[in-house]
Amino acid sequence: MARARDHRSRHSEIGQDPTAPAPLKRAERDVVALGILVAAILMFVGTGSSVMSHIVRSYVFGEANSDAMLGNALILNIALIIFGWRRYAELTREVGERRKAEETAQLLAHTDPLTGCLNRRSLDGAIEDLIRRSAAAGEDVVLAMIDLDKFKRSNDLHGHQAGDAVLVETARRIRGLLPERSVLARLGGDEFTCAAAFAPGHLAAIENLAARLNEAIALPIAWNGITIEITGSIGLARGEAAPDVTAQEQSHRLQHRADLAMYQAKKGGRNRYCWFDPGMEQELQFRSEFERGIREGVLRGEFVPFYEKQIDLESGELTGFEMLARWRSPRHGLVSPEVFIPIAEEIGVIADLSESLIRQALVDAREWNPALSLSVNISPIQLRDPWFAQKLLKLLVEANFPPSRLDIEITETCLHENLAVVRSLITSLRNQGITISLDDFGTGYSSLSQLRTLPFDRIKIDRSFVSSLGKNKDSSTIVEAISSLGKGMDLPITAEGIENGRIHDELRKYGNFKGQGYLYGEPESAEDVRRALAEQNLLVTPPLPADPAKPDLPHAVNG
Ligand code: C2E
Ligand code: MG
Ligand code: MG
Repeated sequence: MARARDHRSRHSEIGQDPTAPAPLKRAERDVVALGILVAAILMFVGTGSSVMSHIVRSYVFGEANSDAMLGNALILNIALIIFGWRRYAELTREVGERRKAEETAQLLAHTDPLTGCLNRRSLDGAIEDLIRRSAAAGEDVVLAMIDLDKFKRSNDLHGHQAGDAVLVETARRIRGLLPERSVLARLGGDEFTCAAAFAPGHLAAIENLAARLNEAIALPIAWNGITIEITGSIGLARGEAAPDVTAQEQSHRLQHRADLAMYQAKKGGRNRYCWFDPGMEQELQFRSEFERGIREGVLRGEFVPFYEKQIDLESGELTGFEMLARWRSPRHGLVSPEVFIPIAEEIGVIADLSESLIRQALVDAREWNPALSLSVNISPIQLRDPWFAQKLLKLLVEANFPPSRLDIEITETCLHENLAVVRSLITSLRNQGITISLDDFGTGYSSLSQLRTLPFDRIKIDRSFVSSLGKNKDSSTIVEAISSLGKGMDLPITAEGIENGRIHDELRKYGNFKGQGYLYGEPESAEDVRRALAEQNLLVTPPLPADPAKPDLPHAVNG
């Protein structure tokens, strides 16, 4: 373990050769072989010279060999020296090879083989070492989380080998800019982490480094005759030496904070750096509470349908309602779908949420005059469910609601996903008598060919064009173009966002539209709609008992 730690801290320092073997430890040498060798040499030095002179004299001058035993002992002594030396040399080589193999195994366990950076496993230890050393030197540690932007797209476009080349070159560029003794690791994929020590208060130097990292990463990479351009988002977090926080805690905190800052850099437009701010942690906390609130709210029935009137602009008659979800949150009040729908989609509860809303809406709408339609918005995620059409039909059967009164609104973004699936879904829904509207038309770049191949029943002009009619010349041009498109394709049009009489009058110039907007009333709760319909004799059941002033109405009434 101690050896592994030595190894880590040594290799985490940039600029050193990571493959250099560590010196042999004394304890690992063969003590026995060394002992034999030393004893044999001592014996040879102590007695060898006098014995040798006897032997030489007996051979050269023919003197009688006084002690043949001594001569044999000398030969044995020399043999021992040779044996001992050879054994010692052999063992030293063997140990050396074993150490080298261990070194390589350690290296592979602690580094990323592609880029030579540290890997995720060894990162914590390396950062903790850096934190301890910097605390001793009175320095601060800055941690940067670097994530390449749209790396997956580049990988898909140019292939995985090109992706590897990008990672190797990016690591080389980052390494080239970091100060000595910095830590550089690749966390897997396209994420790098680096940490360096800085003198306290030297924020400008860190920001300068971060800006240079952004620049270096963004330089084009030439590979196999193609040029790859990629950028990186950097999150920065700074940790001051604190005696009450362990190096491990500080390392984890820095990594978490730099991660949050990196997401902020992505959100801010990518190819930039961003410092951690305590507000980000609060935002994260708020977000996780919000997510929990949505999950619990679905189970507790806190999501309720509101309804917005849809009007025939020519006759001024009410034709139906669009169901718009609201969250009656005990904590946050009445929450807009623009806030909770994207989160519900992300956390995977949109299908359950939408199903419960549609179920409630069908029960509500069953009491309205049968001439009134009900429009519901469907998320692109729900359209990916191969059982969606069946689920919807089941809801209709359960509520005993005629499919011809139901209109499904899907946005243009649905069409970008899987056109074939959407087409078959639309077709099967239409076969059941349900109508399909293309919502927010004009904002999602759907092509005319898509419009032609998908059997929509209606298009809804996005409210951004409608509510700026009369103020913005482009809007008039767009509305006029959509109007003639609708006429050409025989598709009726609904205009959303009619806020005042001026827009209403302006729209009348372009054709016979249906419309909805604040001019006719803001979205209302089921009870309010019921009350208003009752006043106009547009309910098929008696009005709410909550309003005793109103007279009872007969059952089926015609609008
Ligand atoms: P949308 O389907 O385009 O709904 C119209 C939005 O425009 C509604 O916002 C409505 O309140 C608003 N609006 C209506 N008239 C006017 C006006 O005159 N001026 C202005 N400025 N706005 C007007 P809301 O209720 O906040 O809904 C926003 C979006 O959330 C909806 O846009 C729809 O895409 C989505 N949404 C609502 N309910 C659901 C749902 O149950 N499921 C799904 N998947 N999406 C839903
Ligand atoms: Mg809609
Ligand atoms: Mg819309």
